[in-house]
Amino acid sequence: MDFYVESSTKLPVKQYDVVIAGGGTGGVVAAIAAARQGVKTALIESKGYLGGIPVEGGTALHSFYNIWKAFPGVEKRQLVKGIPQEIIDRLVAVGGTTGHAEVLGRFDYDSVCTAIDTELYKLVVFEMLQEAGVYICVNTLLVDAIMEGPVVKGVITESRSGREVILAKSFVDCTGYGDLSAYAGAQFTEPNDHPVANSIGVGNVDIEKYYEFFKSQDAVSDYAEGIRSGESGKIVRVGANKGKLSPEFAKQATEIGMSFVTTTVHDNYFMFIKLNYKMKVSPTDRDQVSLAELELRRRQYKAIELMRKYIPGCEKAFIARTSPSLSIRRGRCIVCDYDISNDEIINGKHFEDDIMAYGFHDRAPVIQIKNGASYGIPYRAMRVKGIDNLLTAGMTITSERDAHMSTRNTISCMGQGQAAGTAAALCAQKDVGTRDLPYPLLRETLVNDGVYLEN
Ligand SMILES: Cc1cc2nc3c(=O)[nH]c(=O)nc-3n(C[C@H](O)[C@H](O)[C@H](O)COP(=O)(O)OP(=O)(O)OC[C@H]3O[C@@H](n4cnc5c(N)ncnc54)[C@H](O)[C@@H]3O)c2cc1C
Repeated sequence: MDFYVESSTKLPVKQYDVVIAGGGTGGVVAAIAAARQGVKTALIESKGYLGGIPVEGGTALHSFYNIWKAFPGVEKRQLVKGIPQEIIDRLVAVGGTTGHAEVLGRFDYDSVCTAIDTELYKLVVFEMLQEAGVYICVNTLLVDAIMEGPVVKGVITESRSGREVILAKSFVDCTGYGDLSAYAGAQFTEPNDHPVANSIGVGNVDIEKYYEFFKSQDAVSDYAEGIRSGESGKIVRVGANKGKLSPEFAKQATEIGMSFVTTTVHDNYFMFIKLNYKMKVSPTDRDQVSLAELELRRRQYKAIELMRKYIPGCEKAFIARTSPSLSIRRGRCIVCDYDISNDEIINGKHFEDDIMAYGFHDRAPVIQIKNGASYGIPYRAMRVKGIDNLLTAGMTITSERDAHMSTRNTISCMGQGQAAGTAAALCAQKDVGTRDLPYPLLRETLVNDGVYLEN
């Protein structure tokens, strides 16, 4: 039998104003923003915790600031504030971040690194969502969209409480993979132009010895000092160039896609060592992902072996944490009403419907935003093309590879999340589609809620 036809079933229905799909980087912020507008908001997250890639695969949050250090004379400006900054304030209160630690050494990549304690981040954002009154559905997978022409009427979810329908007026796709948009019939591409990664937290390391070793080999590219285990002025980030180390070590590290940029909030612990693996097909292929998950676990083990053998300070290192599943840098890229280009980014373009300002590019210093400026992300870049009441925020927007290497970064995804959640709530309140929401109302609401705009 090649196919089986499922029998139709009656599903229980819940009614909300706004549904946010995916409780990761952007989704958490989107749900808080929507609920704070006073609308009934449901958040659907497949895992048992919230936070997304910053708690699973990333290194540090890039970047709340413009890259002022790379351009002498340019003013330091915090470009992203609002709810993303509130999360950092809450983390500071529980000792869960280095704070905005200024980058030292090499200034042409980023000016500030904000590292987080991954476990405290999960707790803090969960509490903030609950305080905002969000209906939080963790361990719940979104499996389909219910459409009526170009309108999303609801979503179908699955959990141990069964298969359910959640109806709403407005929807935001923050799944990273663009699942909701794909189920809703949106157009998308799957560029598969980055490696996938699984990161490990490494315990039992001597951070000072590690740093001194790389320094002695002239291999430190950038570093940062910030709050570590409650003390300021401590090394919290080391970016290293493995090419300057012994060829035997560098060769083996390259073979397993091992990255030497790491951050920490605690003594004796590295938050992230990343292992990269380039899949031949898109990471939406379940069977190929299964093979990649195993390969990445083998790479993790090899990475720890290399660290123990070659890096002073890591002789007794062990794997203290692994990503629950591999992380993608880009999955489905959803076609929206506007597609920001890399030219617009590097020239610091702002739009008449800006919802945030951003100033970091992951390819710096090869590609930099000119003169330490910011560019704007327009509201229309999050409106899913052809669908009346669906926005998307996070790594799903921007098709050009280099443009995406700016817009996909954590703080950009969070800023987009605040705007998308706010817009979805306003649309639900006014009973209008995403294209009929007056931009001045969105702008005024965002600014009142602490969002900083540069135009
Ligand atoms: C290995 C790696 C390292 C990185 N390093 C950095 C870095 O150092 N600094 C930086 O700024 N950026 C970094 N990035 C980029 C950045 O972390 C991501 O682009 C960004 O976090 C994506 O946010 P998002 O909200 O789009 O997706 P995510 O944070 O992935 O959130 C998506 C959420 O949706 C959930 N979900 C998915 N599908 C479903 C479904 N069907 N039903 C229910 N829930 C679902 C997921 O479980 C997840 O929680 C890195 C990315 C990777 C992969």
